[in-house]
This record gives sequence, structure tokens and C-alpha cells, in this order.
Amino acid sequence: MAIDLRHGDDVADLVARTEALVRDTVVPLEERHGGVIASVGEEGRVELQRAAADAGVLAPHAPREYGGHGLGMCDRAPVFEAAGYSLFGPLALNIAAPDEGNVHLLAEVATPEQKERYLAPLATGRVRSCFAMTEPAPGAGSDPSALTTSATRVPGGWRIDGHKWFITGADGAGFAICMARTSGTPGDRGGATMFLVDAENPGMRVVRHVETLDQSMIGGHCEVRFDDCVVGDDAVLGAVDEGFTYAQVRLGPARTTHCMRWLGIGRRAQDLAVGYVAERKVFGARLAELGMVQQLIADNEIDIEASRALVTRACWELDQGRSAAQLTSIAKTFVAEAVWRIVDRAVQLCGALGVSHDILLSRYLREVRAFRIYDGPSEVHRWAIARRVVKRHSH
Ligand SMILES: Cc1cc2nc3c(=O)[nH]c(=O)nc-3n(C[C@H](O)[C@H](O)[C@H](O)COP(=O)(O)OP(=O)(O)OC[C@H]3O[C@@H](n4cnc5c(N)ncnc54)[C@H](O)[C@@H]3O)c2cc1C
Repeated sequence: MAIDLRHGDDVADLVARTEALVRDTVVPLEERHGGVIASVGEEGRVELQRAAADAGVLAPHAPREYGGHGLGMCDRAPVFEAAGYSLFGPLALNIAAPDEGNVHLLAEVATPEQKERYLAPLATGRVRSCFAMTEPAPGAGSDPSALTTSATRVPGGWRIDGHKWFITGADGAGFAICMARTSGTPGDRGGATMFLVDAENPGMRVVRHVETLDQSMIGGHCEVRFDDCVVGDDAVLGAVDEGFTYAQVRLGPARTTHCMRWLGIGRRAQDLAVGYVAERKVFGARLAELGMVQQLIADNEIDIEASRALVTRACWELDQGRSAAQLTSIAKTFVAEAVWRIVDRAVQLCGALGVSHDILLSRYLREVRAFRIYDGPSEVHRWAIARRVVKRHSH
């Protein structure tokens, strides 16, 4: 069987235009703002997305009928990586988390009316959104079955009560997709349901921004309360009690697109470091000529190529319509750790400059750390990977 890893001309063109936009517009803005998205704000987001629309690269992932380019997973990979070369690039193309994953979920699960109301404005960045699953202990975290937020039947709809945190983008989002328990009890899997909750709903309240190492996600990571939050039957996304299944529909592709974006930052870190060691002279030689420096450069390149290969393999499987649970877990675990190693080596190669705020490497180190925790901590993925392997060998 022939294996052809080339992308079509249309994808190559999107990549080239994304690279140009990132180089000429996005990186200068990122550098001016030290990679901190709050200092760009909503106005900056709108401007960035206008620039992406003018460049013809906005919403590469969204269905064509909603203004996107309709790319599958394999074709997304090089475009997302090109956007990910800057912390602000994914926001410019409207492919940042959590909106990008929510577009995918809505395209897969929403009714035609819900698509018009939520997917259409989200796809091209007219609104933002958030995905509210995680709860403070003892609620849902690594183990979704601990879900405590409940949705109870009321005439004509549902009442949601619960407490969420680390909800990325919640401040300023037009709507939330909230996971709430509709059957069973915390600790057993039971049934969860996804609800579309409008920001204007008085029962949903952003309590605070949780301060974190990273600062490149618009709308922060927020603590959110749902108290007497009443929604209609038309707020149910998909079927009642099927929320855990839909979470997998969202998470497989979403964790893979995270890998694509962070791979872009891995490449940027490598470019910054190689640029430094190519010029810097110590002990009568350029750093780049020293063996131990070359080893760090080579190890970065190996991590970049291995990450890309794993992402490609997972994408291919997803494009076949399979769940790709094992391959997306493997890719997510490897890339989250590889990108951390790459940025850390890049910091080392740049010496004191690497830990300074004069270049963005120290910001990248802070930004990539959380990727080993969200979308499944590395330990949870390893646990799941091993269980699947053991199951294959059990009779
Ligand atoms: C920056 C950031 C953004 C986020 N954005 C969102 C969002 O938008 N929406 C949302 O719903 N959530 C979001 N989260 C939450 C994220 O999904 C959770 O942090 C994650 O699922 C882990 O849950 P937890 O924090 O409760 O950790 P816990 O469940 O308390 O786990 C703590 C640690 O225990 C270990 N562990 C857990 N299970 C196992 C196991 N089976 N074997 C071995 N070790 C294990 C792991 O090391 C894990 O890190 C975000 C988190 C961060 C940091």
C-alpha cells in the first residue's frame, strides 16, 4: 500500500498564508505583549481574526457551510502547527481551545437549530465559548465519573446546580457547554448530559479567574457557579445521559489539535535557541560547534519529528472515522512531554537570556507546563494505554 504524506495544493497554500500572517502580524503583536493575551483583550482578538479573515485563513477546521475551510484532521495538522508558532496564532485563526473543540462537538452533535444559534457565530469568532466539566474536589477531574454538578427536570426544561473550575475562556464567553449529572450518583458512571447555557442566564456566574502559570488563553481559567440555572429542553446537546460519550467525541480530536498547536511552539523555541547558538561565541568557538550543544539541538529535532509523526498517525485514524483512543492518548502524552523538553532545552541553550523576559522562551516554558495536566494528565493516559494493551493480551 502506498503511503503519501504530501498535502494537497490547497492545504499547502493555507499553510503558506498562515506562516506569512504569523510572521508579519501575529509574532510582532505577541512580542509586544510578552505573550500575555489579557493585555491584547477582546479588541485584539477581533483585530487578529480580521487579519486572518483578510488572509483567507480564518477557521480552517469549521464546516464550509459555517464559513470555515472544512479541513479534516490530517489537513489541519500543518495549518495548526503553523498557527501555533506564536501563542497568539491559534486565536487569530479561531482555532484556540476551547472554541476549536466546541466547534467540532457542535458540528457532530447539535441539532440544526442549535447549529444556527451556536455553531454559526462560534465558527468565525463572532462569539467565544467555554466547556465546563472540571470541578473542585471531590468532583470531576481526572475521573469524570465523580461529576457532582446536577441537572434536575423542571417543567419545560432543566435546573443545573454545581460548581466548576479551571473553565478556560469562561469570562466573556457567549455560552458554555456544561456537563451535568442527569442520572446515577457521583462515583458511579451513571449518565451525564451536555447543556448549552447562554452567558445571559442569571443562574451562571463567573466567580473568579484562577491565577495560573500560563497566561495565553483569552477569558482566563475561571471558577464558575451554576445556581438554580434553568434552561429549556432545547438546551440539551445531543441525547440525555449521553454526555460522557460526547465528551470522548470532543476530546479525541481536541487533544490531538492541542498537540499540533504546541508543536508550533516547540519549533519556535528550537528556532530561537538555534539562532542564539549560531552566533554566540565562547572559548574561541561558536556554541553551535560544540558537541554537547549539538546534542541538545539534535534531541529537540528528534522530539519535534517524533511528535509530528505521532500526530499524523492519530489524525489518519480519526479521519477514518475511528475513535483512535489509544493513538490520541499516546500522541497527547508524548507531545505534552516532548514540547516541555524542547522548550526546556531551548532555555538551557540560551543561557541567562533564556530565563529572561527579553525573549519569549521563559513565557513558553510557563505556557506548556499545564498541557501535561489538561485533556488528561500524562499518568491517566499511561494508565489507559496500559489497560488497553493488557486487555488485548487477556483471554
Ligand atoms: C490550564 C488549564 C486549563 C483547563 N481548562 C479546562 C476547561 O476549559 N474545562 C474543563 O472542564 N477543565 C479544564 N481544565 C481542568 C483539567 O481538565 C483537569 O485539571 C484535569 O482533568 C485533571 O483533573 P484535576 O485537576 O482535578 O486533577 P486530579 O483528578 O485531582 O488528579 C491529580 C493528579 O493525580 C494523578 N492521577 C490522576 N489519576 C491517576 C491515575 N489513574 N493514575 C495515576 N495518577 C493519576 C495525576 O498526576 C493528576 O495530575 C483545565 C486545567 C488547566 C490546568
